[in-house]
Amino acid sequence: MTQETAIKTVTVDLGDRTYPILIRRNLLETTGALIAAQVPGSRVVIITDETVADLHLGTLQTSLRAAAIEYDTLTVPAGEKTKRFEIFERLVDDILALRLERGDAVLALGGGVVGDLSGFVSGVVRRGMKFIQVPTTLLSQVDSSVGGKTGINSRHGKNLIGVFHQPSLVVADTAILDTLSDREFRAGYAEVAKYGLINDAPFFTWLEDNHSAIFAGGEERDEAVAHSCRAKAAVVAADEREAGQRALLNLGHTFGHALEGAVAYDSARLVHGEGVSIGMVMAFEFSARLNLCAPEDAVRVENHLKTVGLPTRISQIPGQLPPLETFMDLIAQDKKVSRGQLTFILARGIGQSFQEKAVDPAPLRDFLEEQLA
Ligand code: NAD
Ligand code: MG
Repeated sequence: MTQETAIKTVTVDLGDRTYPILIRRNLLETTGALIAAQVPGSRVVIITDETVADLHLGTLQTSLRAAAIEYDTLTVPAGEKTKRFEIFERLVDDILALRLERGDAVLALGGGVVGDLSGFVSGVVRRGMKFIQVPTTLLSQVDSSVGGKTGINSRHGKNLIGVFHQPSLVVADTAILDTLSDREFRAGYAEVAKYGLINDAPFFTWLEDNHSAIFAGGEERDEAVAHSCRAKAAVVAADEREAGQRALLNLGHTFGHALEGAVAYDSARLVHGEGVSIGMVMAFEFSARLNLCAPEDAVRVENHLKTVGLPTRISQIPGQLPPLETFMDLIAQDKKVSRGQLTFILARGIGQSFQEKAVDPAPLRDFLEEQLA
């Protein structure tokens, strides 16, 4: 028998809304007990998607019954299209029909889609119910479940409708990631690597040495999730509403979002983390081009992302891509543009990212033209 390792706890420090993120393998089995301790007296409504329900819902329900917690379950289709008004409305209606009260909790069992949607629902029903997150993708464990941003998409764009609503508890079971596809796991890993590249060079070096164990599900995976949550929590605690340094979390995202836009968000061609991977390599190469960072650093970033199997080049995206001008437009439309100035997260080296608020469009155009060639 393997020995049980201790639960890792990351505290997100937000005054009277401070909450813990608990991390370890097989925590799903004890989620009921964790809720009873942390959010006592609440009835629970589980929101999950069909894929996750087939794999993990039974385990969660058993643990709630073991802790004598009353629950109901609402299931939505898997996929980004689920983050829309019709489904949001149906969930709100179902929860009201169940006669849940303000002190009751919405529990999100799923990836970022279920988390964002459920968080929004919990933020507005009865002006705010309790919210518990059980993130089931690597991306949701290290990124979307930390920070309190919730929401749905509009036909005008992604994540345009929502509220800030912090959970009371996050339970990150790292064994749950064993059922995730390699592609989805890698996509989440791009965001893990991002934390090293932003401001933590020793963490990036540690990832270069330990990525195999992280992918295999060793204790290093727990450590990588905990470290990433700590990194995001620190930024969020300092800048909850994205006034300043939270922008660094967008490293690789301006290029990445343009690439996602260029394939019309077709996840068969590119998922978000893959766009971020290519985008981070581009941010480092562009920084090197501007003589801000050593070219060797850009090579090192690319080598590591390549080693774990992430795409690092635009040419790896299957199918036809739009012309240069479309990319320039997509970049100009990115929400990181303020008052007509092009804002990018650039780097002086690994772990030395910074926000550049007035990027000159001329070298950017030349750089993009080469990348698209
Ligand atoms: P997702 O929720 O769509 O999950 C990806 C796929 O994996 C889905 O098909 C899902 O059914 C499946 N899945 C989930 N867990 C599984 C498991 N354990 N085993 C097998 N399959 C599993 O996508 P995601 O990548 O987790 O999240 C993306 C969403 O997160 C986007 O909508 C994005 O906007 C949002 N996001 C939000 C924030 C935030 O701060 N709120 C930050 C980053 C991303
Ligand atoms: Mg991201």
